[in-house]
This record gives sequence, structure tokens and C-alpha cells, in this order.
Amino acid sequence: MSIISAHNKHDLTKKQSQVIETLAKAGRPLGAYTILDELRDDGFKAPLQVYRTLDQLISLGFVHRLESLNAYIVCQMETCGSTDNLNTSFIICDLCGLVEELPHTAVESAARILLDKLNFTPTKSTIEIRGLCHACQS
Ligand SMILES: [Zn+2]
Ligand SMILES: [Zn+2]
Repeated sequence: MSIISAHNKHDLTKKQSQVIETLAKAGRPLGAYTILDELRDDGFKAPLQVYRTLDQLISLGFVHRLESLNAYIVCQMETCGSTDNLNTSFIICDLCGLVEELPHTAVESAARILLDKLNFTPTKSTIEIRGLCHACQS
């Protein structure tokens, strides 16, 4: 099963499908303007259209925004997209640009214990751990 078909894809609009396919094909994070360049011949004319579509895909759990890269990546997990899941975690290699989404459970449960102690209710969290991937360390 591919990453995208793992999600419930059937009610995506044409624009949403185009953006998600572009990101999936790239296999790496893309900025909004790169997405716009890719889709300029397919009806996307302004950055706002891309941003709006990305926002929709983010709220559906198909796409995540990597704040530190100012870029977007297709979700790599099957469990994203449920409304109670507002946490995403990534490792990002500074040398080769590898980005991998981490399983929710590990990071999330540690964060939840801490936040409970602080009596803080999170609405959204993105953890981005920068460093060197396995291949780049050797
Ligand atoms: Zn995800
Ligand atoms: Zn690397």
C-alpha cells in the first residue's frame, strides 16, 4: 500500500490531488513556489492558490509543514489526519536533506507527560530534530 492510498483519498479536490501528487513525486520537502512552478501548466496561477490548497491538505493530515525548512512534505504515516492528532515529529539531515517522519507514539507520550505536569494544553506541535542521518555519519 502506498503512503497516499493509506489515507482516505477519495474526497480530495482536483487541486488537492495535484499538490499531493507533486509532493509525493518529489519525495522530499518542497516550498510553495516550487509547487507552483510544477503546477503552473495545470491551472495554478497564484501562490495564494497553492497556500490555500496546502492549508487544506495540512488540516486533513495529508501534508505537513516543516517550519525550519519553510517547506511541505507528504505525510509518511498512516495514523495522521485524525482530528485529535496535532503532533508531528521529524528528523532532518543537514547534509543530504533526508526528512523522515517519526512515529507519533514515542515522542508524543513523552511530551504529553511533560505538558500535563505544566498544565498546558497544546493545540499543535511540530518537533524538528536536525542532525546527520545514518548514511552521512560515515
Ligand atoms: Zn504525518
Ligand atoms: Zn544525510
